[in-house]
Amino acid sequence: MRILITGGAGFVGSHLVDRFLSEGHRVVVMDNLITGNLNNLNHHIGNINFEFIHHDVSNFIHVPGDIDGIFHFASPADPEQYLKYPIQTLKVGALGTHNALGLARVKGARFMLASTSEVYGNPLEHPQKETYPGNVDPIGPRGVYDEAKRYAEALVMAYHRTHGLETRIVRIFNTYGPRLSMQDGRVVSNFIRQAVRGEALTVYGDGSQTRSFQYVDDLIEGVHRLYFSDYSNPVNIGTTFELTIRDFAELVNEIAGNEGGIVFKEKARIEGDPQTRRPDNSRAKEILDWQPTVSVQDGVAKTIAYFREALQSSN
Ligand code: NAD
Ligand code: UDP
Repeated sequence: MRILITGGAGFVGSHLVDRFLSEGHRVVVMDNLITGNLNNLNHHIGNINFEFIHHDVSNFIHVPGDIDGIFHFASPADPEQYLKYPIQTLKVGALGTHNALGLARVKGARFMLASTSEVYGNPLEHPQKETYPGNVDPIGPRGVYDEAKRYAEALVMAYHRTHGLETRIVRIFNTYGPRLSMQDGRVVSNFIRQAVRGEALTVYGDGSQTRSFQYVDDLIEGVHRLYFSDYSNPVNIGTTFELTIRDFAELVNEIAGNEGGIVFKEKARIEGDPQTRRPDNSRAKEILDWQPTVSVQDGVAKTIAYFREALQSSN
């Protein structure tokens, strides 16, 4: 196959590039590097099956030659980044998705959208099933991301129903692992960066809010299985192992051997920060025979090792 991965220079996208190249497919990455980093793809430079196009997918997309599959993963994903780039985030979810769908139609390609658990907003149903329509404030600060993804899902389903396009929607829950940007404001990046520097971990609020953190390899396996399935409704890919942010901080300190402790910060928490988040992943189990396999201890240890190395080479 020859596939296009938008956002392929980012954290998740670059792991997807690795997976498809390792299977002998040809991969074209299109990325404007707004939050991504070419270092994530350095190891593929010189591979004849790999191409990189520096382009903003919110503008018309042109890719010469056949394309069998499109993975639309371009979008800022970290709350600090999408608040810094609110209009670009709305545009890539709306115009970027439209352009990528248009290209899929012209090429006769299968299309996959990277959606998010944020379509559920601050959920009133727990855990979140794919049938839960969500609780999102369109004009709250997080609305730029959440509504962009909700619109993107609606557009994907419209192309599927109207044009018969083969489409997939993956609703990704909090994912972490090597290549998470260290400058990223997401909790895993912050905690691990702080832990390897021996600093106190910053917990926003009282730390009672929960998240369910999945390791990137599990996500990529789920994405791969969903792509090759024949299922066009959304599928949650995430772990059901839920932790409070305070417990997660303690776990990171323990694994890193950090004695810096924890500090609680009231103000930094972004308005609308969901209080709980855990997928109901029974659909993925049933349809894809998928379930996460990497424990949080192993995943965090691997990510700490990556951050230590990255910090050393940046010194
Ligand atoms: P990331 O910021 O590391 O990667 C996103 C990539 O998209 C970057 O390389 C960025 O430069 C690129 N990009 C953004 N706007 C673009 C545009 N207009 N044109 C071209 N490229 C553009 O984030 P990530 O964590 O790898 O997220 C990847 C995808 O997965 C996103 O769509 C995100 O919404 C989704 N997702 C991620 C998570 C997670 O926990 N990591 C959770 C839910 C959903
Ligand atoms: N958080 C925290 N300390 C940090 C960064 C984030 O306590 O240094 C909290 C944040 O308030 C949220 C959770 O961790 O409740 C997850 O935040 P993240 O930015 O990773 O993504 P979200 O799941 O909110 O999209």
